[in-house]
Amino acid sequence: MPKITIDSTEIEVEKGTTVIQAAEQIGIDIPRYCYHPGLSIVGVCRICLVEIERMPKLQVACYTPVADGMVVHTNNEKVQQARRAVLEFLLINHPLDCPVCDQAGECWLQNFYMQHGLYDSKMVEDKVKKQKALPIGPNVMLDSERCILCTRCVRFCDEITETHELGIFNRGDHTELLPYPGQELDNKYSGNTIDICPVGALTDKDFRFRTRVWYLTETPSVCPGCSTGCNINVHHNDHRPYKAGGIRVSRLKPRYNPDVNQWWMCDEGRYGFTQVDADSRIVAPQKKTRGDWQLLSWQDAIDEIATKIKGILKKHGADAFGVILSPQMTNEGLFAAKRFFQETLEVENIDFEVVAREKGYADDFLMKADKNPNSEGAKKIGLSAVDNSGLEVAQMLADAKDNRLKALYICHHNLEKGFKKEEVKEALSKVDLVIFQGTNQNSTSNLANYCLPSASFVEKDGTFTNFAGRVQEIHKAVEPLGESKPDWTIFRNLSKRLGKSMPYFEAGDVFNALAEEVDAFKGLSYEKIGEHGVLLNGHRASTEKEMGALVA
Ligand code: SF4
Ligand code: SF4
Repeated sequence: MPKITIDSTEIEVEKGTTVIQAAEQIGIDIPRYCYHPGLSIVGVCRICLVEIERMPKLQVACYTPVADGMVVHTNNEKVQQARRAVLEFLLINHPLDCPVCDQAGECWLQNFYMQHGLYDSKMVEDKVKKQKALPIGPNVMLDSERCILCTRCVRFCDEITETHELGIFNRGDHTELLPYPGQELDNKYSGNTIDICPVGALTDKDFRFRTRVWYLTETPSVCPGCSTGCNINVHHNDHRPYKAGGIRVSRLKPRYNPDVNQWWMCDEGRYGFTQVDADSRIVAPQKKTRGDWQLLSWQDAIDEIATKIKGILKKHGADAFGVILSPQMTNEGLFAAKRFFQETLEVENIDFEVVAREKGYADDFLMKADKNPNSEGAKKIGLSAVDNSGLEVAQMLADAKDNRLKALYICHHNLEKGFKKEEVKEALSKVDLVIFQGTNQNSTSNLANYCLPSASFVEKDGTFTNFAGRVQEIHKAVEPLGESKPDWTIFRNLSKRLGKSMPYFEAGDVFNALAEEVDAFKGLSYEKIGEHGVLLNGHRASTEKEMGALVA
């Protein structure tokens, strides 16, 4: 393995490593615009110039492979001067509209100017004008004047999505990044071009002018949009007091995980978080009285529901009780539900899968047809009808229709996704007690007798298990809306009211209890999950399998 010296530190690296990568390994961050570790190397922006002893000119660090005995200087006077010159060149025609640019605060032109530029402008000539605020796709706006022609977005569309919508057109100072004639930047992953654009040339239609980025706090989490479980950061504005109808979550950004999504996420997941602040949120326990919803305190809701459950079990037995859990729930919510329904109530009719009539979009990159984040967790915890020798969801609805089922506890589902509207309506109308627990109202919640408000994925801690058996943590980014609570807390409170305490105070307590009891989770602990997740027992680390074609 070649040994090289970078800024007086000696390091041994794999053959083929470039200077920029070797420097990263010892914590030296060489400035870059065009270089991105997930894309091919083109060496066009020249900001990463470094001095390599015995080479006549400065070299681009992103393109130069290390050689044994190489001595590199990444920050001497000669290098700093070159960086200033590159910045001066890039800014010749830049509009400097930072005060109205959404990228301000996270712009690499601003940052590098402050770190390495700090020269006085010599420009007296008029700047070349280009197109501004040009919509180039459903999610992306282009400001051509701000583009520094690094080609990251072009390479993303050529190499990652292979959709080839973007190109560089014209020559000299009229060179411009644009979609090909007649094309739009409209692929399933288009939002990633905004993330990797180092300047404010590509901005997000959904985020533009909403908030300044320095007001945002980021909380690590996992996308609940499908069973891949892409790692994300939730960006939320905690400086603005929440008013009813306001927006707390500003945007989702992908978070690097080499085994799951690398640097990327799909647009469906990126823009699919609007339900967390939607008007349809259930914000307090409520019961339907003569067709109208009436708000209840948690105490009253738990008391009334517990009393009714007790009455039904006493009169009709546990076979008259059906439970439909959801793969939208965390492992903790599902495990607390299992303990409550199986141990406290001794109910066996538990299932979690409602097979959607229409399958979701899937590809061989990240997106999966299963639009739930935790189907694998639900299976491993043993919550399917097969595991419990109880009724499947379809059979529960049939039994309800025939008056054999007297109580249904439904978590998160909209049953109309799997069954005909009239069938669901008829079945639920025949059941004495229908409890709906979830984050948002839907046509199923409207048919319930009681609605209990669940905290959404940005309002609680917990874990999801992705399709490959990787357990990953979500974290509370904002306070639960209204009176909503994590699912496991609701089951714990109901269980206590019905005579069986569960000693859980935090999501970690539930996870650790789950890890003691369920074989697939044995040996894991909440504290050991870490930022990239851990695999369940019996699941091999399988990067190729988890990432589909990403590494092919
Ligand atoms: S739009 Fe952004 S990512 Fe694309 S070439 Fe210009 S600066 Fe680079
Ligand atoms: S691929 Fe799935 S998990 Fe990843 S961002 Fe899209 S919806 Fe979310």
